[in-house]
Amino acid sequence: MANQDMLQHDVLIIGGGPSGLSTALHLVQIAPHLTNRILILEKAHYPRPKLCAGALTADAEIILQCLGLNVSEVPHVDASTAHLDFAGKGLTISLPNTHALRIIRRNEFDAWLAQKVKDKGIEIREGITVKKIQPQDDSVIVETDSETFTTQIVVGADGSNGITRRCILPNESIHTARVLEVITPEQDVIASGKNAPRNDIHQVGVAYFDFFPVPSGIAGYTWDFPTQINGEPMRCWGIYDTNILAYKQRPGLKEPLAAEMLRHGFDLSQYEIKGHPIRWFSPFNQFAVPRVILVGDAAGADGIFGEGISIALGYGLIAAQSIRDAITQNDFSFDDYRRRILLSPLGQALTVRTGITHVLYHLHWVWFQKFFWRVFKPVVALAAWLFVLNWGKRMK
Ligand SMILES: Cc1cc2nc3c(=O)[nH]c(=O)nc-3n(C[C@H](O)[C@H](O)[C@H](O)COP(=O)(O)OP(=O)(O)OC[C@H]3O[C@@H](n4cnc5c(N)ncnc54)[C@H](O)[C@@H]3O)c2cc1C
Repeated sequence: MANQDMLQHDVLIIGGGPSGLSTALHLVQIAPHLTNRILILEKAHYPRPKLCAGALTADAEIILQCLGLNVSEVPHVDASTAHLDFAGKGLTISLPNTHALRIIRRNEFDAWLAQKVKDKGIEIREGITVKKIQPQDDSVIVETDSETFTTQIVVGADGSNGITRRCILPNESIHTARVLEVITPEQDVIASGKNAPRNDIHQVGVAYFDFFPVPSGIAGYTWDFPTQINGEPMRCWGIYDTNILAYKQRPGLKEPLAAEMLRHGFDLSQYEIKGHPIRWFSPFNQFAVPRVILVGDAAGADGIFGEGISIALGYGLIAAQSIRDAITQNDFSFDDYRRRILLSPLGQALTVRTGITHVLYHLHWVWFQKFFWRVFKPVVALAAWLFVLNWGKRMK
C-alpha cells in the first residue's frame, strides 16, 4: 500500500503526442496548482518522427486557440480546398475566408507543443519507455526501462499500439486501420523510371481524398496533400483502410496507391513507403479502469478518415476535467469517464463518424459510392458540417 504523502506525482501521462500534451495543458489551465504534480514520460526525444499526413482541421486550431496557442508558429502549408472524390466526381469543401486544412509536419508540431508544455513548468522526461502499468487500490505503479514510478492517476496517451491499453484492458476488442504513407517532391515526375511529362490533374494547394479503392474491398481512400519539408514544397500521399471489409479478403494497399500516384505521374517504387496502424473509436469500448484513463489514439480516433490530431487534442480537455474532479472528490474510479466522452461534442461527433464509417464502407458497391458522393452530395455536405466537423467550438 502506498502512503499518499510518498506518491511522487498525482498525474503521470504516458506519451508526449498531441493527446498527452493537450491533457497536461488543459490540466494546468483548469487546475494550475497541479503543475508540479504532473509528469509526462515520452519514449522518444523531440523533435521525434511520427508517421502522419499532418492535416489539421479547424477543430484542432480552435482547441489550440482556447489554450492560448497559435499554430501559425509551426511551419505549415494551407490547403485552400479539400476535395473528396469517387470515380472522377465528388464533394469540394472550402470554408469562407479561411483554409480547409492546415498541414504541418508532426516532428515540428509535436516539438512545438511539447515546448509550450515545458514553458508552463510541466516536466517531460524524454527517452523513457514505459513497460508495465499496475493499478493498485490506492495508487498506480508504472515500470519503465529505467525506474519505477508511483502515482495517483495514469493517463494512457501512448497511441494506437500503446502499452497502457494492453495492460489495463487486454481483452478489449479493437478496430485497427492499416495505413501507408509516402512523401514525394511536389514537382518531381518520375514515371516508369524515366522523366515523363507532368500529367497531373491535381491542383497545387488542394488536399485530395479519393475513395476509388472501396469497391475492391479497401474500406478507405487514397490521399494527396500538399506539405513542406524544411520549407521545400512536397506532397504527402497515402492510403487508409479501416479493415472493416477484412472478413472477405484483405487486398494489398500498395497496388492501389501505386496506381493513384502513377495517374499523377509519380512512380511509387522510387519512394520510401511507411506504414502504421490507427486505432479507431467505438462507442462500445471501455476508456478507463480505476485510476487509469485513455486519451487520443489509445481511446480511439475517427473511423472515416483516420483523423486523430484534433481528436487527440479534444480528448485532452475531457481527461483534464475528469482528473481535476477525481482529485477534488478523492474518487479515482473514473466510472463516469466513458459517459463524459460519449456526451461531449467530441464523443457525439466520433459516434456519428463511426456510424458513417460502417454505412459508407460496408455499402462498397460502385452504384452506392456514386450515389453517396454525387446524388446524395448536399446531404453529405450538411451532415459533415453538422456532425463530423465543428465540434471544437462546443467543447468549452
Ligand atoms: C499514416 C498516418 C497518417 C495520418 N494522417 C493524419 C492527418 O492527416 N490528420 C490527422 O488528424 N490525423 C492523422 N493521423 C492520425 C494521427 O497521427 C493520430 O491520431 C495522432 O497522432 C494521435 O495522437 P496521440 O497523442 O494519441 O498518439 P501519438 O501521436 O501516437 O503519440 C503517442 C506518443 O506516445 C509515445 N509512446 C508510445 N509508447 C510509449 C511508451 N511505452 N512509453 C513512453 N512513451 C510512449 C510515442 O513515442 C508518442 O510520442 C495519421 C496517422 C497515420 C498513421
